[in-house]
Amino acid sequence: MLLDESKNPISSASIEVGCLSGFKPEPIGFYFDIIKKDYNNLKDCVLNVIEIDGRIKCEECGSESRISNQPILFCQKCESGKTKIINGKDINLCSIEVNK
Ligand SMILES: [Zn+2]
Repeated sequence: MLLDESKNPISSASIEVGCLSGFKPEPIGFYFDIIKKDYNNLKDCVLNVIEIDGRIKCEECGSESRISNQPILFCQKCESGKTKIINGKDINLCSIEVNK
């Protein structure tokens, strides 16, 4: 875990979870609360989990669509299934607040 590399206590951290990452915010928060007890610098850390929508680009008509949880990714303009995911698959650590 990236967060455990800090020697100073971390008071809060924010992560963005893409809706196509396969992870949901609630379980991440739940497991983080269990795991953080094993790390001195994370004991009091509050984790903010922000779920972000995905974006796909249509390879037929070129338009971009915002998607939230559809299992099949159709273009919202021409309904083609030939789409490419351009955002929403990642989990990103956005910020951490460190106590000194
Ligand atoms: Zn299209």
